[in-house]
Amino acid sequence: MNSHYIGIDLGGTRVKIGLVREGKVVARKVIPADAAGGLGASLPVVRAEVDELLETYRVDSFDGIGLAFPGLVDPASQRILSTNKKYDDALRVDVPRWVREHWNVPFFIDNDARMAAVGEWKYGEGRGTDDLVVMTIGTGIGTSTIIGGRLLRGRHFQAGCLGGHISVQYEGRECTCGNSGCLEAYGSTWSLAGRVEGITDFEGLFDAVAAGNAQAADVLRDCYDVWSAGIVNLIHAYDPEVVVLGGGVMHHAEAILPYVREKVHRHAWTPWGKVSIRATQLHGDAGVLGVTHCLKEHI
Ligand SMILES: [Zn+2]
Repeated sequence: MNSHYIGIDLGGTRVKIGLVREGKVVARKVIPADAAGGLGASLPVVRAEVDELLETYRVDSFDGIGLAFPGLVDPASQRILSTNKKYDDALRVDVPRWVREHWNVPFFIDNDARMAAVGEWKYGEGRGTDDLVVMTIGTGIGTSTIIGGRLLRGRHFQAGCLGGHISVQYEGRECTCGNSGCLEAYGSTWSLAGRVEGITDFEGLFDAVAAGNAQAADVLRDCYDVWSAGIVNLIHAYDPEVVVLGGGVMHHAEAILPYVREKVHRHAWTPWGKVSIRATQLHGDAGVLGVTHCLKEHI
């Protein structure tokens, strides 16, 4: 009998729930997130979706649940340590108990960007290297790092995963995190608000550029430059061989990659050669695959 796992990737915009068997997402559900409504209010909705997925695919017993969470997490104690404008009630929610009471299966929880990095490392564009940085562009910008085959977590569980909050403009826009001029404050979906009339996400921005909107083209070019600066900073910090870019915006990888590669290769100090910059091919499954991998392998 093959082992089955449930992976939940709790995003700011969407919640992805996957049924995973032998390192493959064999079934998935994607539902709108209610990050502002909180984690306590979201769990019953997630539970119903998990149960429906198990029932639809006739999985009578399964081997664990992994949760990729958008905040700082201590996976050893299974505690959420800090949030930033997403699921801000999470520190008061006992998620391990929720799992125990409803399914009584093994549980694993870690930061969402970190789990996306494990997904890319084991199943995606990071296969074949042990020195990898993953940057996921979504509602915010998540990053994570693997150095010499070790997933970076750090003393306070924040190593590698705050790359969205490195300053690219030290006197720049105020960020949600308390810092100013963060990568995320210039290159995430939330940062698009108010920059081009009526446009609130990257799909809208790409559509406007395609329709000849010059202002949208300027904002998009600015995002490319900001992402490139962020990637150079991450390369200088972590010395990767490969950088994988993730998030829904990577549907436009053909437009994004040539510009970003050229710019990063021109600016990064890497005398040994060029960092390979790739787009995710996991179609949003990186977090689900990563968190179920960690659950199974105890990484
Ligand atoms: Zn910030």
